[in-house]
Amino acid sequence: MSKIIYGLRIQVRGIVQGVGFRPFIYNLALEYNLKGWVKNNSTGVEIEVNGDQASLNSFARNIETKAPPLAKINHIHIEPVSPNGYTTFEILTSTSNEGEFVPVSPDISVCEDCLKEFNDPLDRRYHYPFLNCTNCGPRFTIIKDIPYDRPLTSMAGFKMCQDCAAEYNDPVNRRFHAQPIACPDCGPRIWIEGAKSRSTHTTNTSTGYIISTVQKEFRLGSIIAIKGLGGFHLACDATNPQAVQTLRLRKKRDEKPFALMMPDLDTVIEHCYITDTDKNLLGSPEKPIVILRKRPGSNIVAEVAPGQETLGVMLPYTPLHYLLFTDFPEFNGMTSCRILVMTSGNISDEPITYENQEAKERLADIADVFLMHDRPIHIKCDDSVARTVRINTSKTSPTDNTVVLTRRARGYTPVPLDLPWVSRQILAVGAELKNTVCLTRNEFAFTSQFIGDLQNYETYESFLKTIDQFEKLYRINPELLACDLHPDYLSTRYAIERAESTGRPVIQVQHHHAHIASVMAENGIRPDTPVIGLAFDGTGYGDDGNIWGGEILIARYQGYLRSFHLDYFPLPGGDYAIKNPSRTALALLWKEGIDWLPDLPCTKVYCAEDLMQIKSQLVHQINTPLTSSMGRLFDAIASLIGVRQKVNYEAQAAIELEAICDPIEKATYEFEFTNETINLALMVKNIVEDYLIGAPVSRIAAKFHNTIIRVLSHVVDKLAGEYGIKTVALSGGVFQNIKLLEGLLSEFQDRDYNVLFHQKFPTNDGGVSLGQAAVAHHQSVGSLE
Ligand code: ZN
Ligand code: ZN
Ligand code: FE
Repeated sequence: MSKIIYGLRIQVRGIVQGVGFRPFIYNLALEYNLKGWVKNNSTGVEIEVNGDQASLNSFARNIETKAPPLAKINHIHIEPVSPNGYTTFEILTSTSNEGEFVPVSPDISVCEDCLKEFNDPLDRRYHYPFLNCTNCGPRFTIIKDIPYDRPLTSMAGFKMCQDCAAEYNDPVNRRFHAQPIACPDCGPRIWIEGAKSRSTHTTNTSTGYIISTVQKEFRLGSIIAIKGLGGFHLACDATNPQAVQTLRLRKKRDEKPFALMMPDLDTVIEHCYITDTDKNLLGSPEKPIVILRKRPGSNIVAEVAPGQETLGVMLPYTPLHYLLFTDFPEFNGMTSCRILVMTSGNISDEPITYENQEAKERLADIADVFLMHDRPIHIKCDDSVARTVRINTSKTSPTDNTVVLTRRARGYTPVPLDLPWVSRQILAVGAELKNTVCLTRNEFAFTSQFIGDLQNYETYESFLKTIDQFEKLYRINPELLACDLHPDYLSTRYAIERAESTGRPVIQVQHHHAHIASVMAENGIRPDTPVIGLAFDGTGYGDDGNIWGGEILIARYQGYLRSFHLDYFPLPGGDYAIKNPSRTALALLWKEGIDWLPDLPCTKVYCAEDLMQIKSQLVHQINTPLTSSMGRLFDAIASLIGVRQKVNYEAQAAIELEAICDPIEKATYEFEFTNETINLALMVKNIVEDYLIGAPVSRIAAKFHNTIIRVLSHVVDKLAGEYGIKTVALSGGVFQNIKLLEGLLSEFQDRDYNVLFHQKFPTNDGGVSLGQAAVAHHQSVGSLE
């Protein structure tokens, strides 16, 4: 009996290109004996199938449920069409429709299947540094334009050999239409440069020879520049103090911690305490750097992360990384180093280097040896940084863990966020530090990878380039610009100039409003929903021209009311005080009418003359901007009790203050709050007293944290009562402080608040661009009505 044949046209949107989606559809169609075709187009994947009703139904249902692991489907549109008499099922050439766009997959760490081949001496890709398949490998960093097809990637210059072409064209092969497909015969290759005096067989191009030479250099304490997926790393043996010290000096990086790479979980467990969530995170396809607590017995040198009890650790994520930990005794008679520093290839705060020639110039004075390859990196992308947070409340049992991202880049970018509204086309240019940009279109927000601190000229250039790349990739022509309120941010100036030159409107969004809008958008909060927003960070330009940073807002996307803030205190010397917490501490004491007693650590660092000068500066208000910053309060307390008087990188004092907290201490200090301000005088006075009677600083630090948590709970309860709002939103760099975040989460969740905090986007200024875009959309829509 012959069944009636029907037809369906199906459009799938989301991350469906470069993730093995067409082969999946091909095989699914074969399974149900359907005829027709599948192709990539500029909005996703398009399918037409003919078959009987039951098969068509099963086929359509399975598209979503059986999709390949890396696919992220946003939308499936199905419409009936007349059957076309197809006799086969085919994969057709991609078509590009002007102005359409499709989300791009992030770069994904090498998969298990590929690793098996990598480790199989009989496989033709044995130890090949660039093997990949439809489920893994480079994506975002090699793409030049959409649709994602080989000619539009940086693989365009490599002509497939016959074997690779056969795999590429074989629908049942796991490399069917894997765009970066490659093998030792036809794909990218590695080589070394530098260290000429030591290498004798410079003509030897075998992988074993090259890698064993690099390993020998590691053993000798050399610094190696290694070209990776999204840029260069600078690497050295993390157990060699001399090597780590040399890297610090040459990189001009005083104390900011270096990331590490270890070959496997067992090695990580040997050196760090890890939970099951950490384990999953370390081994996830995204392979971020995970912040872990260091074990006391570890032989990793202290200079890797001075003053910190944590280490940033990642596992290998490309075949080349696996090679670094593979032994080649036949060449060098030694085993590989087990723990490598793997820090981004740059000097100080410059952006990561990603081109070969550029690397040889910029890293010439840092690296002894260069491990190069010839697959171009089209879009640079740093490693992401993540950590797990414990949510421990009376309601969640057993302990729940969740992941937060402090730097969102490789593995995560450019996965778009689904917005709970249809957005205008907006370019939001972010803040000044830890800059990211965000572009919106339809229901998508595309937030860029971490760009860096814009004061640096090279970083500013990469800011411009990223904007250009995202606009081109997603066919976005911004009709509206969004930026910070701070007139001197380079991002603000860019947005205002661009708005002027193109005749487009620009909306300036207050920094802390943007923070709160960002965490709202990330959590899918709908327009017109008010929240109690806790925005705590180091610095943000306030509506009144003061430096804000300890703000409690009743906020919606459209606007906000500043209902509470930390009581203002002066910052003698502005930026100079930020680098010298002792000045902030003295200013706080002065403001609260507390004497500068000679026994206090913040007083001890100055001679009588300096103290006089600072006092006169405060009294006469010479360059003493006012701040309500929570970050600065943490600095001041760290200085007051002798933790740190000078900082070498952002938030260093606060990080060290958190690190010394006595976890057992539950007590708090007294505090007051008036109608609008949280008053710190009592707490500061008590801290000084505690310090002077010799209370352990670990207890003072803990009591200070507990106090902040208690104050905020009280304020939120008060506002919740007044406004009838039960949603609390936490955002701003201060929430990178895990003790504070965990403490507040459990306080609020125990009392049935709906708590919003950042998990997919950074809580620091890396999340600000998303919030700017959300606010700008709603304010502009409001003004149209
Ligand atoms: Zn693979
Ligand atoms: Zn090949
Ligand atoms: Fe901020």
